[in-house]
Amino acid sequence: MNCLKNFDSVSREDPLENIHKLTHLAIGAHQDDIEIMALHGILACYKQEHNRFGACVVTDGRGTPRSGEYANVSDDEMVEIRATEQAKAAKIGDYANCVLLGHQSSEVRHLDFEPLTSELVRLFQLAQPKIVYTHNLADKHKTHLAVGLHVIKAIRRLPKELRPEKLYGCEVWRSLDFLPDEHKVLLDVSARPELQSALINAYRSQIVGGKNYEQAVIGRLLANATFQDAYAPDAHSRLSIAMDMTPLILDDQLSPRAFMRDILRATRDEIDGNLAGFLG
Ligand SMILES: [Zn+2]
Repeated sequence: MNCLKNFDSVSREDPLENIHKLTHLAIGAHQDDIEIMALHGILACYKQEHNRFGACVVTDGRGTPRSGEYANVSDDEMVEIRATEQAKAAKIGDYANCVLLGHQSSEVRHLDFEPLTSELVRLFQLAQPKIVYTHNLADKHKTHLAVGLHVIKAIRRLPKELRPEKLYGCEVWRSLDFLPDEHKVLLDVSARPELQSALINAYRSQIVGGKNYEQAVIGRLLANATFQDAYAPDAHSRLSIAMDMTPLILDDQLSPRAFMRDILRATRDEIDGNLAGFLG
């Protein structure tokens, strides 16, 4: 595993120079997003010979909220702390690659921020993953949403034969239980519960100030597994729900807004239709 960064002004190393071919790639906005949203890919590749997992973190973590013992940490120190935590998680999770692109959130929120698009295109060309996990189009964190849109934009620059087979929009700052079942991808994450906790607990700086991420993430996965079907016993003990965003990388003319509006219309129709069945 190598965890490379490009924010070191001394070395100016190329964060993509050691990228291997990967089967599963997760692209997240911040350090810890990948461990929250892409456990399915991490588990699929953990200690496997042929499956290889890679992580790409887009921002440098400079804007991280801080409290408690981290209250007086400077922005530059926080960048280092978060990079170290991400490297620790990558080691725990047996990632084949971990790339920190080190951009500022304010840059990433501009969809015409070309350096990011170009880096993502190169990442896809080198890694050629089959399955890609990123933020979903209903995430309420604007930097997450921007990263998801950048990923779609970058994949659309690739020739069709180099594109991933699947693009999953995953849960962080919005759970996806509200989606109609036909728009959900249910990802079984029942395996290795201790590994999952260790991955999330690698981010001490995010937790000690008063955010109980470990239990919150596990709680969501347990709830997803139990509340999928009112009539059947639980098929899995833990489930992650993803929005299947693959149509957006198959059809370059499909706008992300139109794609999301169709999903929201289907959600409204389902809920309203159930009520109409009683109330007319
Ligand atoms: Zn985040």
